[in-house]
Amino acid sequence: MSDVPLILVMMPIESTIQPVKGSEITPCMECLTPCWLSPSSMPFAEHATRLCAVCAERMARAAKDEGEPLLWGGFLPGQLKEIEEDLKNEQQ
Ligand SMILES: [Zn+2]
Repeated sequence: MSDVPLILVMMPIESTIQPVKGSEITPCMECLTPCWLSPSSMPFAEHATRLCAVCAERMARAAKDEGEPLLWGGFLPGQLKEIEEDLKNEQQ
């Protein structure tokens, strides 16, 4: 499990999506676009390839064209809770 390369998909700060509370700005490792890194992703960021959504999609397509299997890793531990709490705060 630990030798599976992890790709973190991040939202560019210029997108309309609001970052969750406590997010930090970190550049995409491909195009250097500033992106949001949420607190739940931070423990994984050091060991992951950090890509903006645009680069992640481009690389996923390229990998698929080369016949590499694509695996959706899902959410990181704490990530859903983070989003839920942010939505709750927004409603208040
Ligand atoms: Zn990028």
